[in-house]
Amino acid sequence: MEPTILKRNDHPVSREDFSEEALKVLYRLKNKGHKGYLAGGCVRDILLGRKPKDFDVATDATPNEVKRMFSNCRLIGRRFRLAHVNFHGGETIEVATFRALPPSDDNHSCKLVKKQDGLVTRDNEFGTPEEDALRRDFTVNALFYDISNFSIIDYAGGLKDIENRTLRCIGNPDERYIEDPVRMLRAVRFAATLDLTVEEETWDGIVRLAPHMENTSNARLFEELGKWFNCERALACFELMEKSGLLIAMLPTFGRWLRDEASDSDRLWIEKAFTQIDKWKTAGVAPDPALQMELVFYPYHMARAETFTDMPEHEKLAKAVQDHQKALMPRVLISQGYMHAMIKILQLQKPLQDQNEKRMGSVRPSEFATAFALYKFRAIFLEDDLSTAEWWTQHIPEGKHRERHYAKRKRKPRKPRKPRPPETNA
Ligand code: ATP
Ligand code: MG
Repeated sequence: MEPTILKRNDHPVSREDFSEEALKVLYRLKNKGHKGYLAGGCVRDILLGRKPKDFDVATDATPNEVKRMFSNCRLIGRRFRLAHVNFHGGETIEVATFRALPPSDDNHSCKLVKKQDGLVTRDNEFGTPEEDALRRDFTVNALFYDISNFSIIDYAGGLKDIENRTLRCIGNPDERYIEDPVRMLRAVRFAATLDLTVEEETWDGIVRLAPHMENTSNARLFEELGKWFNCERALACFELMEKSGLLIAMLPTFGRWLRDEASDSDRLWIEKAFTQIDKWKTAGVAPDPALQMELVFYPYHMARAETFTDMPEHEKLAKAVQDHQKALMPRVLISQGYMHAMIKILQLQKPLQDQNEKRMGSVRPSEFATAFALYKFRAIFLEDDLSTAEWWTQHIPEGKHRERHYAKRKRKPRKPRKPRPPETNA
């Protein structure tokens, strides 16, 4: 298929939008006679007027050829070899060789393995730029920027979808979700963060196939949970997750409780928790994952704890979190470490309420910080008297000042780049 090609003068993407490091990689590939394309999220983000998080490069050079071109390069990945080119300032440019499409039923020559249920389990063949574009998930994620002539190459209709702010699956949505169910989570995350409307078939496929999420590894779903909570639009994402059925598919016990049993106040808590998480993120603060999870799951954990009888309060709280972690295990792998941290956050609410300085003085700074963050959130939510929270702010035990321990500030912006020669069409 002939791609749509937009020449430099017909699109707004400029080399000024790229990092110095990404340009170095692209030019090195070009000078060695290879194709050097920026690919995926970075091209999409620039076209949408957003700052890209990172830069991914696609090329016809093999991973070993890339490694020979860069002394600061490491090959990673067992399934599909990728080159990571690491720079001093900490930036890593991922360079991937064009990859082939997953096999269709009549294409048995391809080495990719599709199980009977359609899930792709191996994916390690090199391909053409067109194949590489079409194996990507959504049209807006399949655009290339070609460093040789500064053009944008579109094999999948992504330019039109960017113009109409539409998120559309490449190919048949049902097949693409069965191949890799995580694409459904990616769809709602992109729709929420990029403010895109999910195209009808792309959306209906999610609603139909959300239960296929169970075919994904629990470690990968934990990673996706982190991406959701840290996407800066976690509340919008939550709303789409719930509407599409993905919430119950990913977090079954919590999702069903929210649908069937939660009160309006529980729901309001959860919405405010996501709003708080988004506020932290926008302010450049990176809260502890255990705090984020406990903030969201708090009403559920409290409702569970209330159902246990004949045990002390702190054991009820621990059991509520443990039971939830165990029930989640087949879907989302929450480590023992995070589970214990969540239990601690809950159990420290009482000593905080009682102004128990001795008890709070004996906990680690990070435990104090996360428990106090929930305590304050709770007091504000319940429109409680804030005097105890204020008292703690005055009495925070030595060395336990909260911000330092759950908050990492964003790195300083990069230093300005050297001016470049003006762009011309090659
Ligand atoms: P973000 O800004 O969240 O990083 P991104 O689009 O860059 O968004 P990545 O996860 O970094 O997302 O992936 C880079 C590119 O790889 C995507 O734009 C997409 O083209 C492709 N890709 C990633 N995951 C998948 C997948 N599960 N199926 C198909 N293509 C994928
Ligand atoms: Mg990315």
